[in-house]
Amino acid sequence: MPDLEITCVQCKRVFIFSEKEQEIFYRKNLHPPQHCPKCRSEKAVGEGNVPKKFEIICDHCGRRDQVPFKPKVGREVLCRECHSALMARTRFV
Ligand SMILES: [Zn+2]
Ligand SMILES: [Zn+2]
Repeated sequence: MPDLEITCVQCKRVFIFSEKEQEIFYRKNLHPPQHCPKCRSEKAVGEGNVPKKFEIICDHCGRRDQVPFKPKVGREVLCRECHSALMARTRFV
């Protein structure tokens, strides 16, 4: 079996469905994947049902909070309240 090129149904990128993978899928009686490995792993994360949260301590008020992204080192981190307050403030400038 030659390698197959499949267009991802989600991001429309073409990815290689390799001979080796085809063999595994064939043995497990699975249909060829419709998503590229990237979308597949994102989907797997989503199906895990546990959104990744990062514990932060707000630089502004010192409260602990959780954010869905990894805070950058050296950058100001704000809790949800301070962040939305900041957003509201900048919107009216
Ligand atoms: Zn994709
Ligand atoms: Zn805060």
